[in-house]
Amino acid sequence: MSSNVRNFNGKVVLITGSSDGIGAVTAVEFFRSGAYVVITGRNLDKLSEVEKVCEKVSPNGLKPLVVVADVSQVEDCERLVDKTIGKYGKLDILVNNAGIGTRGPIDDPDILEKYEKIMDTNVRSVVYLCHLCVKHLENTKGNIVNISSVTGLRPFRESFLYCMSKSAIDLFTKCLAVDLGPKGIRVNVVNPGPVRTNFMVARGISREKADEIYQQIGPNYPLGRVGEPIDIANAILFLASNESSFVTGINFVSDGGAIFSAH
Ligand code: NDP
Repeated sequence: MSSNVRNFNGKVVLITGSSDGIGAVTAVEFFRSGAYVVITGRNLDKLSEVEKVCEKVSPNGLKPLVVVADVSQVEDCERLVDKTIGKYGKLDILVNNAGIGTRGPIDDPDILEKYEKIMDTNVRSVVYLCHLCVKHLENTKGNIVNISSVTGLRPFRESFLYCMSKSAIDLFTKCLAVDLGPKGIRVNVVNPGPVRTNFMVARGISREKADEIYQQIGPNYPLGRVGEPIDIANAILFLASNESSFVTGINFVSDGGAIFSAH
């Protein structure tokens, strides 16, 4: 069955980090477009909220499969894929979106702890989930969309751990595109600029402070605003669809021109 940018009827989509922010809105958009969607994160309450929205917009009365899982844990990744295949028997699209941020100088006393946490969450999980899913994606001639950041493409102050993690995802994507192209699997990466989500709050910044930062930085960007989750969801759906069937290994920068601004 073909999938254009707004028709994912019959497609099975697994989206990590879909209890909040970009992943949640992406799950809702896939749902609206007729897909069978697996939503996952660590927080069941947040997942239940997303589940309700998905059910409301589904054109076929579908419910998402909800799996509570921590992608930094090997067993959780395995259970996530097992449950997906157990329920639907196949996988068409893997969206590796779960991610966390961190900041700090190189003489930060917690540097190794932060390094391990960010790499386990932002990189190791993506490598392992691709490893677990590749045979299923080969069967469906499916595709992978990884979520990186503009921070994978240029340096930002005191953000080297996060920048490194996203840069790794960018090159991992290109390498996999080369390896998996002959199997009929496309692999692409979206690089968002700042997007209004709970990303900063998850890192310990207050909601008020985060809103203040978005208000300050948005007007400095060429398009005059920060992103909204739907901006990134639209890019993900495009790359996952047959509209981009000749596209693999690309960085799709969706940032309102933020990458060209001073930081
Ligand atoms: P949010 O903090 O709003 O959402 C992050 C999601 O990731 C949540 O669903 C969270 O679920 C999940 N998550 C985090 N850690 C884990 C974990 N260990 N196991 C499972 N799930 C986890 O952030 P965004 O929506 O903004 O971020 C989504 C992606 O976009 C990230 O990869 C981020 O790096 C990237 N990005 C974001 C930008 C922004 O400005 N917002 C800019 C550029 C890139 P739960 O809490 O339930 O575990």
